[in-house]
Amino acid sequence: MDAVAPIPQSAGQVTIGEVITEARQMLEQAGIESAGQEAFWIVEHALRLPAHHVIADRDRLLSHAELLAARGLIMRRVDREPLQYILGTQEFCGLEFAVNQAVLIPRPETELLVEYVAQRISVEQQATIIDVCTGSGCIAVAIAQLRPRARVIATDLSSPSLDVARQNATRHAVYERITWLEGDLLGALVRQRLEGTIDVIVSNPPYIAGDDWAILQPEVRLFEPRGALVAGPQGTELHERLLQEAGQYLCPGGVLIMEIGAGQARAIRRIVERIPGYRFHRLVYDAAGLERVVIIERTGT
Ligand code: GLN
Repeated sequence: MDAVAPIPQSAGQVTIGEVITEARQMLEQAGIESAGQEAFWIVEHALRLPAHHVIADRDRLLSHAELLAARGLIMRRVDREPLQYILGTQEFCGLEFAVNQAVLIPRPETELLVEYVAQRISVEQQATIIDVCTGSGCIAVAIAQLRPRARVIATDLSSPSLDVARQNATRHAVYERITWLEGDLLGALVRQRLEGTIDVIVSNPPYIAGDDWAILQPEVRLFEPRGALVAGPQGTELHERLLQEAGQYLCPGGVLIMEIGAGQARAIRRIVERIPGYRFHRLVYDAAGLERVVIIERTGT
């Protein structure tokens, strides 16, 4: 006698197609803009199926466990948790990065920092580059991949975020190429004997002004790490501290490349004028036409 196939747990006879429709409606009601697309991705992720299976198997009944998993993830999104934390990944510079609530979700405009580091440092150059506030490690890992001869150092104040960054470096096979230091801005460099040797310091520091926190969208305000986003009352406090600390480490002609918020370039220029040993080199605008990156050069010979 043939073995009897196990009876699928039908969980009230809900199909993949139906749960996607249900998810889309719930996300629409919650005011999520791309509800249809997100519903699809969340269900696909919950069922751990490649996309074409979800489409081909629309009429398959879900098991009880599958239905619970899918609905659980959808409820997280209804509660405005960012899609990237739910799916666990975000793409940056063409690479996939693991993310969780310990780290800021990499933003597309931050790719500009990587672009300007790559402009400054040639493929052959054995440069030393420091990524300050590495978070998910997106900048450090992307640079290590693009510039195979460079020595990369990544620092962060938060040990859980360094764990995520190390995981991402391992995933992209550059773990051994990056030195990981836990500490506040460049504080972790003390006793490393790197004074005057660094070619590029790159950073996307927290730059939101304290009062602006309340007006951020819920995805950011309720789920992303506040410490990765908010600086002080002005928003430029971390840039200023980094400028003060970076001077001793940069070699003459070395650069500090920092991300800024819209409208902060003037304040940064004034800070640069006050601190000896620097020259404001360039302001870069992002695709939306907003001030986004400042490049500041260390003067001297
Ligand atoms: N360097 C990371 C990024 O740009 C984290 C930045 C941060 O936490 N402020 O996404």
